[in-house]
Amino acid sequence: FAFPEDEISLLVIVVDVNPIWWGQQAQRQPEFTLSKCLDAMMVLGNSHMAMARTNKLAVIASHCQDSHFLYPSNKLQVGDGNGDENTSSSGDGKYELLSVANNLIVEEIRSVMLKTEVRGNSNDTLLAGSLAKALCYINRVSKELEVGQETKSRILVIKAAEDSALQYMNFMNVIFAAQKQNILIDACVLDSDSGLLQQACDITGGLYLKIPQKLALAQYLLWVFLPDTEQRSQLLLPPRAHVDYRAACFCHRNLIEIGYVCSVCLSIFCNFSPICTTCETAFKIQLPQMVKPKKKKPKINV
Ligand SMILES: [Zn+2]
Ligand SMILES: [Zn+2]
Repeated sequence: FAFPEDEISLLVIVVDVNPIWWGQQAQRQPEFTLSKCLDAMMVLGNSHMAMARTNKLAVIASHCQDSHFLYPSNKLQVGDGNGDENTSSSGDGKYELLSVANNLIVEEIRSVMLKTEVRGNSNDTLLAGSLAKALCYINRVSKELEVGQETKSRILVIKAAEDSALQYMNFMNVIFAAQKQNILIDACVLDSDSGLLQQACDITGGLYLKIPQKLALAQYLLWVFLPDTEQRSQLLLPPRAHVDYRAACFCHRNLIEIGYVCSVCLSIFCNFSPICTTCETAFKIQLPQMVKPKKKKPKINV
């Protein structure tokens, strides 16, 4: 037999903290900055943890160089020990776990933003990597369960910067891995639509929402993304978004509707090439225009 308390609901929030996008955003709209976004995210995280004793939370910051766990972190034990910092905020009668989590997130995000300097010309968010990290964490939590316990996990992506077609392959692999593990991916998109996340939500059964008002982020997070799948069926939620199912070609990472697919490894190309660049299969296709020049060449050389 299983008590309802034996079901652990794990919510992993992946926040896009791309410093370039947030820097531009602060200029465009000074009233909605990264710290406002993190505040809203923490409201959602606290609400999730306060809903049930067995609810668990993890937060991953997705930077353009790496992804970093904001909560839980290795500093958790340290933070518990030198409770001087924490007592000031937990003295107001707040649930202790929430103030510990909030302080940790603030501390970690500060160190992430201070440590990582932006170098090179790649300023894409490493979202695929962060999602893979989230899946690994979910896997670890489900492996550490006690007998009789079950987990129900989902991932919420708070997306800011544009999609990177370079990550198409990795991203799709992560999506299919999540689908296999029955892990929902939700997406809350702040700016331009993301085709990759639309596909992720559609394939895993999650919700995709591009919010019309950035300032109302906390409200959207609580209304749409706090309820779990069972509760969602009883709510009136925004309609499903149209999904952009175009794939990126492996040669130029352009989004294409019609292309050539390697029959061996299923790589996608926008132009025909007689040898697949991924698996190096040579195709024996009789194309009169391509055979002729080959015959002529030796004659000229002789
Ligand atoms: Zn191409
Ligand atoms: Zn191939």
